[in-house]
Amino acid sequence: MRALSRLSVISEIFPGRIMPEHKTRLAIICPVFNEQLMVSTFVDSIKPVLRSLAPKGISPCLVFVDDGSEDQTATEISALLNDDPDIKLIQLSRNFGKEAALSAGIDYAVQQEFDGLILIDVDLQDPVEEIPNMVVAWQEGSDVVLMQRVDRSEDTFFKRNSAKLYYGLFNALSEHKIVENVGDYRLIDYKVAKELTKLEERNRVMKSLIPWVGFQTKILPYKRKSRHAGQTSFNVARLSDLAINSITSHSTKLLRLWGLMGILMFLASVGFAAKIILEKMFFGIEVPGYASLVVITTLIGGVNMLGLAVIGEYVGRIYLESKRRPLYVIKSIS
Ligand code: UDP
Ligand code: MG
Repeated sequence: MRALSRLSVISEIFPGRIMPEHKTRLAIICPVFNEQLMVSTFVDSIKPVLRSLAPKGISPCLVFVDDGSEDQTATEISALLNDDPDIKLIQLSRNFGKEAALSAGIDYAVQQEFDGLILIDVDLQDPVEEIPNMVVAWQEGSDVVLMQRVDRSEDTFFKRNSAKLYYGLFNALSEHKIVENVGDYRLIDYKVAKELTKLEERNRVMKSLIPWVGFQTKILPYKRKSRHAGQTSFNVARLSDLAINSITSHSTKLLRLWGLMGILMFLASVGFAAKIILEKMFFGIEVPGYASLVVITTLIGGVNMLGLAVIGEYVGRIYLESKRRPLYVIKSIS
């Protein structure tokens, strides 16, 4: 097996020491969902770039993961398969979401023992011209090459600011940090991908999982373009779901925050009680009850509900994890 051939005698004695790796077989993982307008344009754009990598010894393979498209995406890709042995199509049995589609592509590439993987969207928002730079960084020794957007002017005001809020919250709450403005467009070495396949959690967000795995990382700047054709599948609800998923799966600080809130409220209520008792004892002031009672009751009710909601988020996730369902179901591989 190729995985074994990667290990020298020494590394068998000292596990973890791996011999110099091959850096030639490159899988380009492309998750697609209702992208019939984009498939052929994407392939036409990426093909010359991939061909230009031949002098670097790179033999690339395009791995499409059709995430249950309801349009002609699969037919479009199937038509390309006959002409080109370096295009593969994995079809999922329904729409499992981009994260699951990426996991399917990564699992496939690890199983096929590709030396490196590039995760890329097919809407040409991730510029294919950057691939040679990513490959150079990889061949020079980086295990993860992150593509960082230097300019979000193509994004809406809402998306720009909600992204800022997400990165701020994530990095404040999580013990391992993620680099701001880095999406899924990145190159990962076989060894990073292999570690990803070992993670058993169902709730996966690649942009926070890959940094968790670690390894030598290089950041390359790029300018993100606007979508070439078709439309985004990520509305506000899906984006917030993704943000909550990634934060809750990497941090339990939110739960602790509620403990802190409880202590603060307890101290405040002791102070307030002391004030009322002193006023009554020394100044004989009758306590004006109604307004303060309503405010305090609603405040405590609100804080309780929020606390329960946070706990509920975690309990829901424990429930989903406990079922241990597969991340995706494959319909066919061709
Ligand atoms: N995608 C997917 N499954 C989904 C939604 C999206 O595989 O359920 C793919 C989509 O076809 C595209 C990539 O993920 O190749 C990014 O999607 P999109 O452009 O809609 O996201 P955005 O760029 O707006 O964040
Ligand atoms: Mg897009």
